[in-house]
Amino acid sequence: MKPIYKRILLKLSGEVLLGAKKSGFDTSVLNFIADEIKEIHDAGVETGIVIGGGNIFRGASGEGIGRASGDSIGMLATTINSLIIREVLEQKGMDARVLCAIDMPKIAELFTRRRALEHLSEKRIVIIAGGTGNPYFTTDTAAALRCLEINAEAILKATKVDGIYDSDPVKNPGAVKFSSITHAQALEKQLNIMDRTAFSLCMEHSVPIIVFKLLEKGNMRKCIEGLPVGTIVTKGE
Ligand code: UDP
Repeated sequence: MKPIYKRILLKLSGEVLLGAKKSGFDTSVLNFIADEIKEIHDAGVETGIVIGGGNIFRGASGEGIGRASGDSIGMLATTINSLIIREVLEQKGMDARVLCAIDMPKIAELFTRRRALEHLSEKRIVIIAGGTGNPYFTTDTAAALRCLEINAEAILKATKVDGIYDSDPVKNPGAVKFSSITHAQALEKQLNIMDRTAFSLCMEHSVPIIVFKLLEKGNMRKCIEGLPVGTIVTKGE
């Protein structure tokens, strides 16, 4: 395998862990994700992971809880998912660390850029938990921010769909998929690839985003080999 990236940031949504379940996580999905990550890890790609918390809690979901408190709960949910991912990666023989934006010394290291870089250079997988550590942000924004901080060359955004379409492929069977698109075109066409804060960071710093279907074997490897998979968002010419 010939990776075209030395270091990437993988963004997983919390929801993907659900599999066929309504809450929590599905062990077969976890094992699948770990095997996919192992493939790119074994190929020498340094990997940072940001995982959401949507399978457990979303701050803006209402349910009588105020936004800032809800966001704190959401950040804790991302930390729970990060610990679960670390466990399954370790079970498969990978060396992985959780670095959290919120200090919880008994269960994770505090995220600092320098510490993340040290672990990555030691070929450890770095799972970055707790979002940005601030309410009113999302884990997509955390992914964009951490991607920049760890000098990753691209964000691999793993989703349920197999790329970016001109309209919702679930609602519109005639939706057309892009194989590549520029940040500017995506903005102009109002394609909701990430929330605006996250997308602005990527655009401003020309971070490529590869949107691909997670639950298809070999897709992560294809992403890092630069093979056609999903949609790649680049700064263009
Ligand atoms: N969150 C936050 N600040 C951050 C990142 C996340 O407050 O920097 C909270 C927010 O409430 C969010 C929740 O954590 O809804 C879980 O993250 P997200 O919804 O982005 O997860 P995903 O949709 O990727 O599963």
